[in-house]
Amino acid sequence: MQSAQIPTSAWDIFIGARLSDCRVPVQCKKPKGVNYRHAFHAGNYADVFKHALLVRLARALQRKEKGFVFVDTHAGRGRYDLSRAARGDSREREPEWPGGIGRLWGRGDAPPEVRDYLGLVRAFDRSRGNLAQEPRFYPGSPRIMGLLARPQDRMELWEKQPAECAALRREFSGERRVGVHAADGYGAMRACLPPPERRALVLVDPPFEAPEEWSQVAASLAEAMSRFQSGTYAVWFPLTGRARMGGFADWLGGAGAPSLVAELVVEPQAEGMAGCALAVVNPPWLFAEEARSVLGYLADALARGQGAHGSVREAASR
Ligand code: SAM
Repeated sequence: MQSAQIPTSAWDIFIGARLSDCRVPVQCKKPKGVNYRHAFHAGNYADVFKHALLVRLARALQRKEKGFVFVDTHAGRGRYDLSRAARGDSREREPEWPGGIGRLWGRGDAPPEVRDYLGLVRAFDRSRGNLAQEPRFYPGSPRIMGLLARPQDRMELWEKQPAECAALRREFSGERRVGVHAADGYGAMRACLPPPERRALVLVDPPFEAPEEWSQVAASLAEAMSRFQSGTYAVWFPLTGRARMGGFADWLGGAGAPSLVAELVVEPQAEGMAGCALAVVNPPWLFAEEARSVLGYLADALARGQGAHGSVREAASR
């Protein structure tokens, strides 16, 4: 990790908060209503952070033999071709993966908690036929969980954007125990909870394009908890200095369940997005310790400026 001498913690940014309504790691210039495409961001530092922690959550739940359902409310297309990451709409873009998975690809010094994630991504990339030195095929959250799922686990994947959802369906065609839903992912709480297994991991990973996203997140988590109090809920969100969080921070503080926030600040001085975070309600046993190991390594490996740091802390309760 780099210096810990950061005057403002990401949690202060989180709580104090005028957070951006956009997860793009530069200043958000998108007009509202433009469809978010994760392909441009696939494999960036935010994906690495989220997916490395997702693997830890899955492994922790799999310490018990009993199966669980993985619900991905904003699933994306399941896999991404990084060689096309800079193309796809009317303008060229700087690909983001070199600052994320690209930074880790050639390193051999990761702790076991990160090696686990890297091993999955490398094996997936090779299995899809990439023989080059740099990564090409990057698994999204549904595919990462699909690689980890045991016969007793199942997945419910929600994706609203029709083309993305069609790709997701193709990705999982023929895979039993995987449901793909072309619908608003916030409806997953009502449709999927409580699960018959009485065990669930729910990932909420919205694009944060619209200011009302925060209140939708809070409302859907409130609904989820009222339907299934003991589920594990993980919410990704951006850390910036300029957005609103709606009622989400309040909701988390008063959730009535143990919660923690893992945060990675890669560029404390950034005008836009300084880093990102994952709030986890009902974190499984040992997750906090493992997340600390992941973040210690990622803060160093993914730093973009002086003072990059990671932390895991309990969410303040009231
Ligand atoms: N979870 C994915 C991963 O880690 O690989 C990335 C998801 S990406 C950040 C967000 C996705 O949510 C996009 O594919 C977008 O089309 C989709 N989306 C946006 N609004 C949605 C909604 N209300 N319900 C479901 N999906 C939505």
